[in-house]
Amino acid sequence: MASARILPINKKIALVAHDNKKDELLEWAMANKSKLAMHKLYATGTTGKILEESLGQYITKFLSGPLGGDQQIGAMIAEGKLDIMIFFWDPMEAQPHDPDVKALLRLSAVYNLPIACNAATADFLFSSPFMTETYEAEQIDYSQYLKRALPQLDKQ
Ligand code: PGA
Repeated sequence: MASARILPINKKIALVAHDNKKDELLEWAMANKSKLAMHKLYATGTTGKILEESLGQYITKFLSGPLGGDQQIGAMIAEGKLDIMIFFWDPMEAQPHDPDVKALLRLSAVYNLPIACNAATADFLFSSPFMTETYEAEQIDYSQYLKRALPQLDKQ
């Protein structure tokens, strides 16, 4: 049975940028300031501090990404508490927390969460009529996975 997660009109949006991408995200955010103002914003620590100062909009700030902030956003996704993620990750430099970066991208696929990893996709996302409406995001049914057969455990 298919289920859906309802994204409300006023959405919860996470913003994350690696160091070499922070200027791009800031530029994009400033260009979309009035649209972002409709929504509740979350960010990893350093990204959030920079954006909050420039946007003049309150942002719930988690730990810095490499110190666990990516995982805190991942927890929001797993708990169904996030609607959209704007994640400008750096394709040209390895990160100390690469496993966390991969985990965040993976969870967005697991839960069918809209994500933008560059300014062009973020522009398309923010031009969507769904940004000012509710949207039903279909949820993949993992019930068969949860009922999967496990390898026989040795009986003592
Ligand atoms: P930061 O973390 O915003 O604290 O720099 C971003 C990231 O996940 O690397």
